[in-house]
Amino acid sequence: MDSKTLIDKLVNLQNIDLEIKVIQKELTYLSYETDAQRQEMEDVIKQMTTDRETLCESVGDKVLIARITKLQSRYRGLFLSPVVDAVCRGCRMTVPASLMVHLVHSDALVYCENCGRILRKIEAEKLLVKPPPPPPAPKRGRKPKKPPTF
Ligand SMILES: [Zn+2]
Repeated sequence: MDSKTLIDKLVNLQNIDLEIKVIQKELTYLSYETDAQRQEMEDVIKQMTTDRETLCESVGDKVLIARITKLQSRYRGLFLSPVVDAVCRGCRMTVPASLMVHLVHSDALVYCENCGRILRKIEAEKLLVKPPPPPPAPKRGRKPKKPPTF
């Protein structure tokens, strides 16, 4: 099986499940104004559940799906963990070099030895955060106070 596709499917699965969770929570805690609105949300969940089933079928590995379900309940739905600089972002443990070799060069799924999540290689460039905004310019006419000198 093409693992690149498999991991893409798993990413999709994780996203769908997280979204379903959010909508279900909204249905539980928010009062919708009309029954029609509520019905609409329930239809969305139904559609997403169908999508999810199709996705699971296309993964086609019941053992894997069972493992994922366990991981989901343990980690609030986040069963995939990005690896950045050889560190599992899920548990912050260093991924041993032997596993990194598999992650980089093999098509097989690699699990974190510490937390058990499925590891996902992320290129560092994709994680670059925007530089923080420059500090606000000092207001005109008012000099910033000098720190006291001793
Ligand atoms: Zn981990």
